[in-house]
Amino acid sequence: MSCFKLPKSFCDEVNAMIAKFWWGSSSSGGKIHWKHWQKLCTPKEEGGIGFRDFHAFNLALLGKQGWRLIKNTHSLLYRVCKARYFPKCSFMESKIGTNLSLIWRSILMARDTLHEGMIWKIGDGRTIKIWEDKWLQCILGRKPNGPIVKFVRKLIDEDRSWWNESIINEAFDAETARVIKQMMLGNLNSPNRVRWNETSTGEYSVSSAYALEIRRQKAKAEGEASDAKVSKGMWRRIWKLKIPSKVRHFLWRACNEALPTRQNLQRRKILEDPRCRICEGEAETTTHILWDCLMASSVWSLSCAKLHKRPVSIEEFQRVTKSLMEVLSREELEEWAVLSWSIWNARNSFIHNGTQVCPPAIFDKGMSLLHEF
Ligand SMILES: [Zn+2]
Repeated sequence: MSCFKLPKSFCDEVNAMIAKFWWGSSSSGGKIHWKHWQKLCTPKEEGGIGFRDFHAFNLALLGKQGWRLIKNTHSLLYRVCKARYFPKCSFMESKIGTNLSLIWRSILMARDTLHEGMIWKIGDGRTIKIWEDKWLQCILGRKPNGPIVKFVRKLIDEDRSWWNESIINEAFDAETARVIKQMMLGNLNSPNRVRWNETSTGEYSVSSAYALEIRRQKAKAEGEASDAKVSKGMWRRIWKLKIPSKVRHFLWRACNEALPTRQNLQRRKILEDPRCRICEGEAETTTHILWDCLMASSVWSLSCAKLHKRPVSIEEFQRVTKSLMEVLSREELEEWAVLSWSIWNARNSFIHNGTQVCPPAIFDKGMSLLHEF
């Protein structure tokens, strides 16, 4: 995987196998994939499960080989590859021809990830292309009808060893010009250096490149990035709760509307009637069955005071969870988690086996799970 680019179709197949196993292994979820694969691959603290995406991991490993060619220009590997594949340009500029070895073609495929994550630290500025290379932390804005300057060196006043402010003001919009003029310049006689922008050390790491690639894929799909940021604190707390992992994963599913409640099954056109089978009243949403339904409220009345005095809610379960996070301690949250899990199991026993479990038994089952853990 660190030398060959695996076919996208193969990676998709492996990803699909993992997803099938994950969704199929649930005792009650059947084979429905309630959430997209990208959501599962999102880091846990951002609302995903933290699965590894094969395609992104493959690119991150290949990127390491590419990074070596960018950084170690005195190595034997670099000299052999340069003579063979890019004698007149840099590694990042080399063309994808027709007669390339599989390994070389594979390494070239990681260049988009590398380009996104690397940043140039200016030395003499001669080879850094203003509009193509990344050398500023912000996106460059061009001034309409401004002069065309190609290399960073042209923006530097060599006599003063400082920025040429008049050219910068003419070529860039006001914000970009301000950022450039604030940037410190180093020794103009030293070569330019490249850094990996995703780590504090400036050195490439596979894990940071993998995280970057996942973000890129997500941005491409215009996923749920903004929502993920808002919920980061909530997810971090959920994954740190000292409860069995099956309960943590149950909470993840509940918060992502990935439980087979009757409302969710109706949305997927598997059921027609979304009404709760226990109270025969409202639609069985996640919040209803775990929080508002008669059975749930009887269990909550046996629990700690803060949960007992809970407000009635018609909100999404994730919003209920967020508001509970603000008022409950860790111990109380753990109690809430195992009791929710126990309520869901009692609901399944009733629907699938016709077995009725009384609220004290539901309460005891949840709490014993917590005490045994
Ligand atoms: Zn109900």
